[in-house]
Amino acid sequence: MAQRRPLVVANWKMNGSLTSIRPLLEGVCNGLQEGCDIEVAICPPYVYLAEAAEKLKNTDIKLGSQNSSHLESGAFTGEISADMLKDFSCVFAIVGHSERRALYGETDNLVAEKFMRAQDAALVPILCVGEQLHERESGDTEAVIERQLNAVIELVGIAAFKNAVIAYEPIWAIGTGKTATPEQAQEVHAFVRLLLARHDDAMADGIRILYGGSVKAANATEIFNMADVDGGLIGGASLDIDEFLNICHAARGC
Ligand code: PEP
Repeated sequence: MAQRRPLVVANWKMNGSLTSIRPLLEGVCNGLQEGCDIEVAICPPYVYLAEAAEKLKNTDIKLGSQNSSHLESGAFTGEISADMLKDFSCVFAIVGHSERRALYGETDNLVAEKFMRAQDAALVPILCVGEQLHERESGDTEAVIERQLNAVIELVGIAAFKNAVIAYEPIWAIGTGKTATPEQAQEVHAFVRLLLARHDDAMADGIRILYGGSVKAANATEIFNMADVDGGLIGGASLDIDEFLNICHAARGC
């Protein structure tokens, strides 16, 4: 079995101000200073990328974006391209977050294009997949995840997943305080790995699959202890330094 380096990604969403993100960045830098056996990334709002890049520049903490355009450049008011994100030292780009899918109408195909464009710009896409509550309740979780993954596989090919991260985020658990049980998370993570293994065994063994959905310091260890969980995508709890650092420490045992 491949040794997968745990990854914890902070998704700050549309939160913070120039004043409030400074102590947050400093707190994370100070708390993770010595040679870290896990990988940590921060995804601030676009406008704070420059500030974050400056603060993180002599650390091992990576920078990521919360979204990325599927387009290269041009008359697309309000869009931010993958190349621009690369310019600001981004390493990762979240694509297909459920809030983008639900609130901004991002389809599976658009997400696949974003994935492709991010990789073209040498960003590592963090592809979010996850089911809604009614889909879980009707037993459709696997079908939904499969459809979301297949849209990307069909566009970019399976080999592209060698340089990607997947985040399983059950929509009913995001920002709701309702976390999937470790067993529910493991079940879907194992399914994702199996689905990828049908195409490429070695890649499936090596890809990191993060869990996201109301992860906090209090529940991180039991979730991260599951065999196919390789870290977390953290929303609300990433805005609290102590919570976030404790989640990072919990990931050491992944
Ligand atoms: C997220 O936004 O990806 C997320 C997991 O949020 P929260 O941790 O707040 O549920």
